[in-house]
Amino acid sequence: MATLLKLGSKGKAVEEVQTLLNKTPAKPKLTVDGDFGGKTDKAVRHFQEKSGLVVDGKVGPQTLAALKQTVAPLKPGRPEPAKGAIVSPVPETGPTSVSPAPPPNAKSVRILDTSRVIEEVIVHCTATPEGKDFTVDDVRAWHKQRGWSDIGYHFLVYRDGRVIAGRPIGQVGAHVSGRNTGTVGIAYIGGLAADGQKAKDTRTDAQRSSLLWLTMQLAAKFPVRKVSGHNEYASKACPSFDVRKDQLSTLAR
Ligand SMILES: [Zn+2]
Repeated sequence: MATLLKLGSKGKAVEEVQTLLNKTPAKPKLTVDGDFGGKTDKAVRHFQEKSGLVVDGKVGPQTLAALKQTVAPLKPGRPEPAKGAIVSPVPETGPTSVSPAPPPNAKSVRILDTSRVIEEVIVHCTATPEGKDFTVDDVRAWHKQRGWSDIGYHFLVYRDGRVIAGRPIGQVGAHVSGRNTGTVGIAYIGGLAADGQKAKDTRTDAQRSSLLWLTMQLAAKFPVRKVSGHNEYASKACPSFDVRKDQLSTLAR
C-alpha cells in the first residue's frame, strides 16, 4: 500500500506528486510527466526542507500527507476564541489519577514511522472554553490563518477521549517556540473555564486516560526522555496544569 516514490519512479502516482508540488512554493516548478527525475527530486527536497520533514528526496506517507495538507483549501470553521486569558498563572490542581485507557477510536489511531528524532512530548491545550467541542478542522483553520502550512500540533485529544492526528509526526510541529525540533506536540480540547477567561484544567476523565495512552504509545515507539508542558518553556498557562506534577511526567523512558 505505502509506495515509496523516488528518483527513477514512474507513473500516475508520480504525476499526482508533481501536481501537488506545483501547488506549493517548492521549486523548481515541474512538468507533470509522471517521470521522477532530477528536477522532481529537487522540488521534493525543497518541499521537505521547508516543511520540517526529513530531507531524503523520497515521497512516502509522511511527505504525501504533508503535501496534501499544504495544498488543502482552508475550511473556514468557527472563529478562534480570544487567547488573552491564557497568560494567567497555571492553576493549582489537586492530584488526580486515572488509568491509561485506549481512546474510543484506538483502532484508527496511527502513529506513522519516521526517521525524525523524537525525544520529548510537549503537552498543550487548545485554550478553548470548558464544555465546548472543537475539531481538528477548526484548529487547523486557525493555524493556517496564521500562515502556517498546517495545524501546529501532531495530535489532538477530543473531550470524549478520541485521539485525532494533526500534522504528520514526521514533520516538525509548530507548537512551542524554539523547541519544535525533536518534539511532538499533543493538545487536549479545552484549557479555559467556561467563561473563556481563566486558565483551567478542563480535562475530562476520557481526555486524561487518552493523553496517558497516547504518550505511552509515543514513548514505546520513540526514545522519549521527557514529557513536559508548554508552560515550562513560555510564560503561558498552557496546558493549564503542571505536567511535572501529573502522571504524564512519569511516562518518559
Ligand atoms: Zn501550548
